[in-house]
Amino acid sequence: MKDKDSLLQNAGINTRLTHVGNDPLDYHGFVNPPVVHASTVLFPNAKTMEKRSQKYTYGTRGTPTTDALCEAINELEGAAGTILVPSGLAAVTVPLLGFLASGDHALIVDSVYQPTRHFCDTMLTRLGVEVEYYDPAIGVGIEQLFKPNTKLVHLEAPGSNTFEMQDVPAIAAIAHKHGAIVALDNTWATPVYFRPLDFGVDISMHAATKYPSGHSDILMGTVSANAKHWEQLKEANGALGICGAPDDAYQILRGLRTMGIRLERHYESALDIAKWLAGREDVAKVLHPALPSFPSHELWKRDFKGASGIFSFVLAADSPEKFKPKAHAFLDALQIFGLGYSWGGFESLAVHVNLNDRRICKAPTEGPVIRLQIGLEDVADIKADIERGLAAANEV
Ligand SMILES: *Cc1c(COP(=O)(O)O)cnc(C)c1O
Repeated sequence: MKDKDSLLQNAGINTRLTHVGNDPLDYHGFVNPPVVHASTVLFPNAKTMEKRSQKYTYGTRGTPTTDALCEAINELEGAAGTILVPSGLAAVTVPLLGFLASGDHALIVDSVYQPTRHFCDTMLTRLGVEVEYYDPAIGVGIEQLFKPNTKLVHLEAPGSNTFEMQDVPAIAAIAHKHGAIVALDNTWATPVYFRPLDFGVDISMHAATKYPSGHSDILMGTVSANAKHWEQLKEANGALGICGAPDDAYQILRGLRTMGIRLERHYESALDIAKWLAGREDVAKVLHPALPSFPSHELWKRDFKGASGIFSFVLAADSPEKFKPKAHAFLDALQIFGLGYSWGGFESLAVHVNLNDRRICKAPTEGPVIRLQIGLEDVADIKADIERGLAAANEV
């Protein structure tokens, strides 16, 4: 096992995605780990039970199935430990609950996933945490926002729906200087394209619902910590009793095996379509961090190994009254794209983005923002579908 571990550490990403997480010889050679359904775990005698001196003690504390996935994520993220939770949103809320207390000040990026903002503005605020939003473009300027009680900085790079990049290492260094914890929602990039812990982040969270699942049918979140923060994260998870289910863990592990090659296709198709949209007159701008014209492109180029399949564009509209009718005309004309939330599955999806909750990075003024998840379909067919949408929007 040790030989395999060190071999995998130096191997390419697809080799690692293929082999991380479990050793088939532990299960009579079967390639995938068994799905262990468990609450009770039996002990051989009273002394072992009293000391809990065996690997598995109770279903909420992990099973061979959940461990296989946690080990895979640890290896991919370079983490000391990983917890599984039942959704991507819980992957954000559990560490915020685990590391913040009444009287603390938390800095949250303004381009954050909307339900994260909702949690911060309701439950976190009610529990006595002072929440302050900051500009994703702030960089080293974040130092001015630190207070003696600043305990945590939450990042999302790129941001939800508008895709602003952040200077992760610069923000992490300043946060650490002030004794604050650095958390980052890494759902967009996955550990294939960005490894937050290598850039100074302490806690990396994922909606495994997206690319790791890959098929729009599983909800799961993962939270990974470095050595300094792992014990407290594990304690928070145990105290809350929020754990991932074995069937879902099995499916996510299964999804990881093909995630690298799926992402290559999402990356290539989405960038091709983003470039094509950027050259059109009926498109005011394209929000994709891998486009050289995108304002924070240099940060993406410096720190990320690739881009996933989701980005937004702004439909050109000559007056604000036309934003919604144009967006609806575009969406209603689509035949291949589905209209639906979430992303990371095999199929293309489109949504008219609402940015009314933004305090600092306000919605673009040129027109409505449409978010596209580019699926695994053929690019020519996806473009033809987008052309149908644009033709309908142009009629408005
Ligand atoms: C989708 C998403 C989540 C939440 O994942 P769910 O499994 O749908 O709860 C969290 N963060 C980001 C950035 C997301 O895009």
